[in-house]
Amino acid sequence: MALMEIEAGTLVTPRGVTESARMKLRGKGSLYGETVVTPGFSDAHAHPQVIDAGEGRWSNAYEWIRNRRLKVDEAALRADLDLSSKLAAASMLRSLLDGVTLMALVGRGDANVLAYRKLPVKPRVVVMPTIMDLQAGWPDAWRVTSLLLSVSALDGAIPLGFFIHSIGCVTPESLRAAYSAAKELGVPFSIHLSEGIDELPTLVSLLNLRKGEDSKIIGVHCISGSGYKEYGIRVVHCPLSNLRLYGKTIGRPGEVDAVGSDWPLLLGSAAAAYKAAVKVHGRGWASYLLSKSTVGGYELFGIGWEGDVLVFDEPLEKVLEGSVSPRFVLVKGEVAVEEGRLVKLDLGKDEVDKKVRELIKEAVENYPARCLNLYSSCPTGDGGAGAVR
Ligand SMILES: [Zn+2]
Repeated sequence: MALMEIEAGTLVTPRGVTESARMKLRGKGSLYGETVVTPGFSDAHAHPQVIDAGEGRWSNAYEWIRNRRLKVDEAALRADLDLSSKLAAASMLRSLLDGVTLMALVGRGDANVLAYRKLPVKPRVVVMPTIMDLQAGWPDAWRVTSLLLSVSALDGAIPLGFFIHSIGCVTPESLRAAYSAAKELGVPFSIHLSEGIDELPTLVSLLNLRKGEDSKIIGVHCISGSGYKEYGIRVVHCPLSNLRLYGKTIGRPGEVDAVGSDWPLLLGSAAAAYKAAVKVHGRGWASYLLSKSTVGGYELFGIGWEGDVLVFDEPLEKVLEGSVSPRFVLVKGEVAVEEGRLVKLDLGKDEVDKKVRELIKEAVENYPARCLNLYSSCPTGDGGAGAVR
């Protein structure tokens, strides 16, 4: 078997940091990096179809959902499979260039699967369609279960899971059905939780959770309340969107299990989320946060990380700051980014950013919010968006 050798000035793995180390992977050739990190960044929560979040600061997610003014009609955009799929592809490619080697994609499930299948280079993914049956146009737990079963029947190669938009946007029946299906199928179950309101007591009561038992629930945000660990709830930290919407984020970084970009096309990738987390919590937390921002997401979803590698020209200090991008990115042992450009597609960051801007423009032009200038008479009171995230 041919082997690729990667020589590292400093090698960072889940087992620790080693100076002057070598890694061998399947493949051929050799690479040298001043710093080599394995695995790459993991984005434990991303909405690839979100291209607008409105303006303003809010006290909690429900206040934002009710009162935000969007430029785009999200329900109409989401109904466009082709555009939704192109946005998902752009999210994956832009993140890959930043060194993101695993993404958990929520939103329109079939669009995300389609994008993943079509791309010649891509991060690993976990596809978790959004359940939000109290908003028109979004599926309930049963529809998502059918989608997951049909996608897994295709070839079983894409890890799947359930994503509940939030306690306030689903029926209790849908919430319970999705949780029990996730347990039965042995797939991840994730939920937006406690974004400005402590929702832990309600979740505990709705799902009959017990202290000391491992619920395996993945809670996204969790900026309010405490005691998540007592129920085995893993916490995904989304500092970029938390700061944007609420002007605050998680206060106890030691409770973070992984990071999420939330809106990669609007706010940046999981690498940007890592950088923001270090800025908020301080350099003293950088090693811990780097571990949670890389292997943390893999552990959350039970995904293997062999062959996922970032090769940097800069010393570890710069990598820990989050201020540099990898020169090479490998996914499953194959080079996906070479000299800062996507292989097979020959695209760099500037070109992908341009494509993202074009797609956002297309979305806003084709699907403008119906009630943009008629706030007071908008029947849904949500800027005509009808649906959220
Ligand atoms: Zn989210």
